[in-house]
Amino acid sequence: MTRVFNFSSGPAALPEPVLRQAAQEMLDWQGSGMSVMEMSHRGKEFMSIHAEAQALLRELLGIPANYKVLFMQGGAIGENAIVPMNLIGRTGQADYVVTGDWSRKSMKEAQRYGKVLVAATGDGSEIPPQSAWTLDPRSSYVHICSNETIGGVEFHWTPDTGAVPLVADMSSNILSRRIDVSRYGLIYGGAQKNMGPSGLTVVIVRDDLLGHALATTPSAFNYQIQAENDSMFNTPPTYAIYIAGLVFKWLKAQGGLAAIEQHNARKAALLYDYLDRSSFYRNTVAREDRSLMNVPFRLRDEALDASFLEGAQQRGMVQLKGHRSVGGMRASIYNAMPLEGVQALVAYMQEFEARHG
Ligand code: PMP
Repeated sequence: MTRVFNFSSGPAALPEPVLRQAAQEMLDWQGSGMSVMEMSHRGKEFMSIHAEAQALLRELLGIPANYKVLFMQGGAIGENAIVPMNLIGRTGQADYVVTGDWSRKSMKEAQRYGKVLVAATGDGSEIPPQSAWTLDPRSSYVHICSNETIGGVEFHWTPDTGAVPLVADMSSNILSRRIDVSRYGLIYGGAQKNMGPSGLTVVIVRDDLLGHALATTPSAFNYQIQAENDSMFNTPPTYAIYIAGLVFKWLKAQGGLAAIEQHNARKAALLYDYLDRSSFYRNTVAREDRSLMNVPFRLRDEALDASFLEGAQQRGMVQLKGHRSVGGMRASIYNAMPLEGVQALVAYMQEFEARHG
């Protein structure tokens, strides 16, 4: 068996020990005689898996007691509607900061549920400083995307929105570094980058934001109903929760977020330092806003793209093609990407440059 270095933006590489444990437990989870996929979500076996996954996530992120953790379905695109359905009703309007494709999508979807104000718009290569934002204190919340997976721009600071709750789509950088959860009203993200397989959506929401849902909100997507039912109002994505729990355990064993943050900074620095030295490849994001998770780059000559990707594939490095809307390349280097993967990529990029530069 040969495992590749997988640079996919998501669903993305998972830690190998997690996959091994899941394989070992596939037919018989801890003497239960069942696969986790076959368990009732209300049985004691799955309830213990669910509780442990939630406890580990709380511990890793230091989630305060006045926040609920919800394990939902619908993905982050689902949340683009679910967030306003639950929160916009307090005042009927919300502020959105547009820093790239994902936050623009969030902003557009929210328009179906209330008045949406665009607080700031970046040009795709930077995060506009808060001094350039127009925030309305009457808004129900301020929405940001903490890491734009396509554009490769990331917030390396936390906006101060005063009494207005800050809502963040953290799909592609959650658990990549330490954050102060108490600075946010709500955090959401699809699991398929840094947490586990697709199918699971994690929502972390402050208690006082529950109970304001629009009357038309489907019950399964009503945060208050899900919180009251410990995410079991409907059948949760059980197997994805189990794998996420294993990922959380793995992350804790790595030293938690303080340790993974250093590891991620080292990986990203290796790649960006090389991009900065080279005139053959380029990344156009402002240095201070560069994503440590998703590194888009272009070759000087686009005609070489196919040959670059083919050579990478031959060397066991896959899914480096940039998002279809922007082209070029993108290396996604989430928690599960080892340093060796980035070293191999940079070595290949140097070799390719020497050959074609
Ligand atoms: N937001 C961000 C930041 C993302 O990276 C993605 C997926 N790439 C989404 C939203 C959409 O997620 P999903 O397809 O799981 O709904």
